Amino acid sequence: MAKRGPTPSLIGSTHGTVSFHVALKKSECRRCNANMPMGTRCVRVKKPGTMGPGTAYCTDCFSEVLDQTQRKLDDLRVELESAH
Ligand SMILES: [Zn+2]
Repeated sequence: MAKRGPTPSLIGSTHGTVSFHVALKKSECRRCNANMPMGTRCVRVKKPGTMGPGTAYCTDCFSEVLDQTQRKLDDLRVELESAH
């Protein structure tokens, strides 16, 4: 069997990496525009190969982003199952 290499993921790799941060300076959530003062936990989604810190979300918004991602994954799973 041909070697396929590491299994790619739809999140991470070329689609953007997610990292958790404690804000080092005041920043703003991309989605709800909430202020995130220094020391706030926030999430950054960064597309590889792009400059800058990426897109910042507060943890509440990221939770919704994650739920939405999960729904899409669930849809894909259903499609995959019906394709068998
Ligand atoms: Zn937010």
